[in-house]
Amino acid sequence: MHAGARHLLSAVRRGTTASRHTGARLFSASAAHRADFTHAVIGGGVVGLATARALAERIANKSSSSASSGSSVLLLERHDAVGTEASSRNSEVIHAGLYYGLGSLKTKVCIRGRQLLYSFCDQYGVGHRNTGKWIVAQTPGQREAIEKVFAFGEAYRGRDDDGSSVLPLRWVSPDEAQRRQPAVRAVTGILESPSTGIVDSHGLMQTLLGLFEQAGGVLAAGSPVTKITPLNSRDGSGGWKLHVRAADARDGEETIVTADTIVNAAGLGSADVHNMITQAHPLPGVEVPEPMRLYYAKGNYFSYSASQPNVSTLVYPAPEPGLGGLGTHLTLDMSGRIRFGPDIEWVDDPTNLAVNAAQLPRAIETIKSYLPSVDTAALQPDYSGIRVKLQSAGSVTSGKGFADFIIRKEPGYQGWVNLLGVESPGLTSSLAIGEMVDKLFYSSQAV
Ligand SMILES: Cc1cc2nc3c(=O)[nH]c(=O)nc-3n(C[C@H](O)[C@H](O)[C@H](O)COP(=O)(O)OP(=O)(O)OC[C@H]3O[C@@H](n4cnc5c(N)ncnc54)[C@H](O)[C@@H]3O)c2cc1C
Repeated sequence: MHAGARHLLSAVRRGTTASRHTGARLFSASAAHRADFTHAVIGGGVVGLATARALAERIANKSSSSASSGSSVLLLERHDAVGTEASSRNSEVIHAGLYYGLGSLKTKVCIRGRQLLYSFCDQYGVGHRNTGKWIVAQTPGQREAIEKVFAFGEAYRGRDDDGSSVLPLRWVSPDEAQRRQPAVRAVTGILESPSTGIVDSHGLMQTLLGLFEQAGGVLAAGSPVTKITPLNSRDGSGGWKLHVRAADARDGEETIVTADTIVNAAGLGSADVHNMITQAHPLPGVEVPEPMRLYYAKGNYFSYSASQPNVSTLVYPAPEPGLGGLGTHLTLDMSGRIRFGPDIEWVDDPTNLAVNAAQLPRAIETIKSYLPSVDTAALQPDYSGIRVKLQSAGSVTSGKGFADFIIRKEPGYQGWVNLLGVESPGLTSSLAIGEMVDKLFYSSQAV
């Protein structure tokens, strides 16, 4: 038997011997069967990890208060390790929440996630730095764009516990700019976001995994979910059966695991997981819906090996509606090294991670606009990440629509929480998304 299936089978045994006492919950578990796990979370990126940890801690806390022991959350990851897709291929920026409009879920979970993330990093010693960020404008049109960002910050009336604004923003004068970051060029204005920062995404995910396992959660790595079947009834109210087939499995070899509920946190694979249910198991009396599809926008990063110019804050160009990203920006890693990216390149293949060096000249053009003294010979293709998009390139570039995160109990089904389109600021929002999924299962209040 291959390693992935063996790992999963021992996970199933551990799950079934664990207690399934979860206290109040808003999902049903059929009396006719006893599922291996209470929750199966599909996808071990930062969002799946944060969600699995929240659910495992919920169960562990309930168990300790009711004198029973154990947890019953299974985290299924198709690769041999967690966090090898988007969650480790991004800018590692803790976003403030400036770009997603009033009333959007992105704004809500980004702000909440940022607050939770700074506290979490302090509490568990995860590497992070509150670097701040400058958004720079070079033309009157760009000035207008950053004025809109400022107005959004002003309009957002939420307040932190200490009475400060949850979206603090300030204008930086030319004199101050010259004193603080003399290498940065900004012809028509600089807007500073002091609450923006950076985080060690690998450290964050390892810490979440440790907390998840400490709470009794079970990770099954090397375990791609290939098929999902509702148990006993078509809407999942009897629980769910998940088929798992490792990449090196022999023909037809698969492991089956059951769970009362499922969470689709599969990132680039989330449409496939969604379709596994809606296409094969449409709701009674409902026509088979169109299969869901996702679009992919690669972001190429370029490393910078020169020590000059020296910049100690993040620098972003003014936002451009319809770009599909925030523009090639200057970010810093935890050691203070500069890197540039991500640009935007629409691709058909979500596994196409080769950095496209042909994109470098365009990136240089953008970088030179705000950092004229950049040493272009010191720029090298570095790594890339794929953004998961709910809209095609055409819809995004026409600026037609804003696609919000989808985080919901899938209508008509029972015990299925679907997370779709969790692109940026998904890293920043991860802890808030975990909190939200926990509430969807366990709180009767609207979330
Ligand atoms: C270029 C780029 C830059 C970004 N910059 C930032 C930033 O600076 N700040 C920020 O907040 N956000 C940023 N983001 C967004 C952030 O990285 C993502 O929102 C976040 O990582 C999403 O996490 P996830 O867990 O949903 O997805 P992923 O990390 O993609 O994890 C999904 C997991 O599901 C697994 N999976 C898929 N299908 C299956 C299956 N059938 N069975 C089992 N497992 C499966 C995959 O292997 C994968 O590990 C950026 C994203 C990109 C691409």
